Amino acid sequence: MRKTMKQQIKNVRLLNLREKSKWITTDVTVEDGIILSLEKDYPADKVFDGEGLVLSPGFVDIHMHEEDFSQTGDNTYDIAECMLKMGVTTAMGGNCGSEKTDFHTFLDTVDKNGSPINYCLGAGYNSIRKEVGVLENEKPTKEQMLEIQKILKEQVEDGAFGITFGIEYNPYLTVDEILEALRPFYGRQDLFVAAHSRYDGYMANEGIKEMAEIARRSQIPFQISHLSSCCAYGKMEGCLKTIEENLNQGVDLLVDTYPYNAFSTQIGTSVFEGDFLKKWNASYEDIQLTEEPYSDLELDDDSFQEIRKNHPDMLVIAKVMNEYEIKKSLKKPYVMIASDGLYKEGNGHPRGAGTFPRVLGPYVREGVLTLEEALYKATLQPAKRLGLDKEIGKIEPGYRADMVLFDPEEIEDCASFEDGQKPPLGIKQVWINGELALEDNKIINNRLGRSRRRGK
Ligand SMILES: [Zn+2]
Repeated sequence: MRKTMKQQIKNVRLLNLREKSKWITTDVTVEDGIILSLEKDYPADKVFDGEGLVLSPGFVDIHMHEEDFSQTGDNTYDIAECMLKMGVTTAMGGNCGSEKTDFHTFLDTVDKNGSPINYCLGAGYNSIRKEVGVLENEKPTKEQMLEIQKILKEQVEDGAFGITFGIEYNPYLTVDEILEALRPFYGRQDLFVAAHSRYDGYMANEGIKEMAEIARRSQIPFQISHLSSCCAYGKMEGCLKTIEENLNQGVDLLVDTYPYNAFSTQIGTSVFEGDFLKKWNASYEDIQLTEEPYSDLELDDDSFQEIRKNHPDMLVIAKVMNEYEIKKSLKKPYVMIASDGLYKEGNGHPRGAGTFPRVLGPYVREGVLTLEEALYKATLQPAKRLGLDKEIGKIEPGYRADMVLFDPEEIEDCASFEDGQKPPLGIKQVWINGELALEDNKIINNRLGRSRRRGK
């Protein structure tokens, strides 16, 4: 019989979840990828010094974009390494309706080669709609809808945690079409629907109402994606009110947000159609392109439209939101933290490398929320939404040893709009499936992660 090794992190502070908000100082021992004991001085083969720092369950990023190897064609990882460096141990891609690589190919590749983090996927409706040949400005025919439903069912049965929609990315996508696609899943509580709202800016509340209607009629739990980029234009208060009215009526709505006053997406998308600056009350000074030789260019209508036509995949950063509104939303118990991370060849918005440290450090120290609240929103709350809360999201015996050791005084995001992948401060160690993956910003092993599939 193979002898397994017991590894221990000695002298760590952790939240005792049985007595909410009580911190305990102890030793954590892991074996075979699983947390074995929280007892002090438990016998172990290898011991690490936790230096009295906080040991948290690894952060769970329920909303990011799995750009890995869709861009390079090989099996190297880019965004997943940024995730690991900020303490994320499980992330869900396939968001906003978009699958970057074939669903099965992606998960199988992650399993075959390992990955910096554990990866899950949603079934991306917009990608599937396109795949069956529905043109953007057309409705699916009956046959096409059956084909879409068949693919959705396959992906859900093969481990997709839910179905995602990028409603804004296709203005021809109606509520009726979304509900028709969801019909085979009506009432299911073991998965969820996530959507990028139809509207951002002054019509944000209409977008929230539409998503609540989908949740209400389908009776499927619903995740409103990146609330910040939808509502933080003076519209947050009304949007939160709409969400709360629906919650009070029993509609299963949860929300995620990233903590930045700027959003980011491809320049070619319909986000930049029509009078887009007006809807955010912004000007071209608030718009930053992310690739050379354009990143310092002073933009106007003509240059923007020209670049949009020639480089539709280039990421744009739009500094058009109010951070105080995002902070306000993060105080709400139904709002969790997620990065919406997205890079193109290393360029892009700092949220993919800074989201969790930014909330756990600066936001907590500023008093926006307590460390306990922030940790819940970064771990157990998204784990629950994924239905994985019996396996991840807690430091308890029997749970997977996905863990992050950090200094609560020091933790801070360092990624910026100039350097979107700069790693954070204060993350001492990250453990993936019971093994040390990162120490002091240095990746020790970037192949410890595996795919996570719903129900498996
Ligand atoms: Zn989105």
